[in-house]
Amino acid sequence: MTDSIFAKIIKKQIPADIVYEDDLCLAFRDMNPQAPVHVLLVPKKPLDMLTSAQEEDQALLGHLLLAAGTIARQLKIDGAFRLVINNGEESGQSVFHVHLHILAGRPFRWPPG
Ligand code: AMP
Repeated sequence: MTDSIFAKIIKKQIPADIVYEDDLCLAFRDMNPQAPVHVLLVPKKPLDMLTSAQEEDQALLGHLLLAAGTIARQLKIDGAFRLVINNGEESGQSVFHVHLHILAGRPFRWPPG
């Protein structure tokens, strides 16, 4: 399987504006931001989509949510931010490596579009 664009970012083969990294995940600014703050948080493990996660990924998925909170505090957006995971093409997923969108800095509508 060829590496996704995010796998190449994780391997530092292509550049990204990295805001957070630990053993299990990496976060970088989205190149086409949909809000004043738009960060993508990706597991280093190459899961293509959320529904590919298995029981063995439970701790990793929990880690991603905790990391999202850490990043929000670091970027001083912890008072208000939105997390989005697109799962599947019809939901808007375009890169098939699981990622959380962390969005902040403007009002968000509900229900989402
Ligand atoms: P999704 O549509 O949920 O799969 O989100 C993919 C996101 O990745 C989009 O918001 C893109 O703007 C973003 N993106 C794609 N390539 C890059 C890249 N090389 N660096 C930063 N963000 C990217």
